Amino acid sequence: MVGAPGSGKGTQASRLTKALGIPHISTGEILREYIANGHPLGNRIKEFIDRGALVPDDMILAIVADRIGREDCERGFILDGFPRDIEQANALENVSQVDCVINLDVPEERLMDRLTGRRTCKSCNHISHVSIIGDSMVCPDCGGELTVRADDVPETVHKRLEVYERQTKPIIDFYRQRGKLIDVNSDQTPDDVFSDVSEALRKLC
Ligand code: AMP
Repeated sequence: MVGAPGSGKGTQASRLTKALGIPHISTGEILREYIANGHPLGNRIKEFIDRGALVPDDMILAIVADRIGREDCERGFILDGFPRDIEQANALENVSQVDCVINLDVPEERLMDRLTGRRTCKSCNHISHVSIIGDSMVCPDCGGELTVRADDVPETVHKRLEVYERQTKPIIDFYRQRGKLIDVNSDQTPDDVFSDVSEALRKLC
């Protein structure tokens, strides 16, 4: 899944994982777990995430190679948030075959609101939005506690969107040139986006 921060990659990937029965691998989620669990690299990773910058490629590549080498990935997997730049896309070509890349397209002016209004569940990672749940900090999915991600504050969001434009967006053409890209309008309800994603994948298979 590719797309700007706030384009719905996490939401759609977690729906797809249920539908296809293959793992959802979110590099952002793995990095946040490293920080929460006090991993030796946690403090270094936190510095990058809090600045809205990308974590260095060597660290990410080691994490992804380890994750996709596990048994549950033998039948395939869904990558969310990786690759994030051309170097990572090239590195992925060397370790695995990418079947299809879904580009979730959202007008830039919608992203700030989608990110700063985002609420993430501490227990199940379900993503909600203040426009749906209002002031509630209770997950509508599992009843867990909702939080505002540390990097979903306006200043960091600005930086993340800049990083996306400069470093990540070129991977869209990288995959388009290789005939792997499917564009999906993600400026719709999550149900409608999922229906378009599913339709696109059906045509491919
Ligand atoms: P995400 O949850 O995908 O929005 O990622 C949150 C943050 O984790 C990003 O702003 C980066 O700092 C870091 N991150 C996640 N995935 C990657 C990646 N593939 N390469 C470098 N940094 C990443």
